[in-house]
Amino acid sequence: MTTPFDLSGKTALVTGANTGIGQAIAVALSKAGADVAVAGRSAPTETLALIEASGRKAVNITADLSSTEPVARIVDETLSALGRLDILVNNAGIIRRNDAVDFTEEDWDAVIDTNLKTLFFLSQAAAKSMIAQGAGKIINIASMLTFQGGIRVPSYTASKSGVGGLTKAMANEWAAKGINVNAIAPGYIETNNTAALQADENRNRQIMERIPAGRWGKAEDIGGAAVFLASSAADYVNGHILAVDGGWLAR
Ligand code: NAP
Repeated sequence: MTTPFDLSGKTALVTGANTGIGQAIAVALSKAGADVAVAGRSAPTETLALIEASGRKAVNITADLSSTEPVARIVDETLSALGRLDILVNNAGIIRRNDAVDFTEEDWDAVIDTNLKTLFFLSQAAAKSMIAQGAGKIINIASMLTFQGGIRVPSYTASKSGVGGLTKAMANEWAAKGINVNAIAPGYIETNNTAALQADENRNRQIMERIPAGRWGKAEDIGGAAVFLASSAADYVNGHILAVDGGWLAR
């Protein structure tokens, strides 16, 4: 039986999928029926095995996303390995923590380049292929700091606020060409990215007290939202930022 969430016959490209949220999204897309290419700088051995265990094709593209240099190659390799590109998930991201008054230009540039600049130019490269085929889904991974200021993470907040704005800007230009551009804003999810927060007893308690669901999220909590936004069930969803946060923003 087919459902509007079925991704059979679709292909996806997920960045930063060797671990955490990217891995969970890549696996969820494959379980929904998509063949998946993963692009990143670390060997995604476990992720490739999990995609193949879903009975789908898995492709590894080694690329450092701290610059736009590999962007065209990533799309080219996806197209030659999988034949087409239906779904792009811009997940790769980094965070640097320091007091705003001491924050360095290096920490500013590193985060903006990976989280925002590469996200835009990879989306642009994917969109060229999607426009030619008349359809596509682009899903950006935003953050609670797309909506809030955060503490001691100024470049991360700037990048993720930028991701929210870019999601709408790209949606406005590409919706009429058959491309749905949306974002997922994860709440506090247990991954490498939040290891420092999880280990900080005080901040961990403050965070937990504010989450109505009463727990940190798991990477797998993001997978269903990605399948939805990648599927025909979301064909009329454009420029939306979907919070998957256990109710954090509702508080
Ligand atoms: P993670 O486990 O640290 O995963 C980040 C991924 O991005 C890893 O695969 C990492 O590869 C990759 N990456 C970073 N810099 C890269 C580069 N220069 N080139 C290629 N790949 C690179 O953290 P995560 O929590 O799953 O984060 C995934 C996304 O969710 C990020 O955009 C993050 O900002 C966002 N997010 C996370 C949370 C949360 O609570 N965890 C909340 C909101 C948003 P390596 O393993 O090689 O570093």
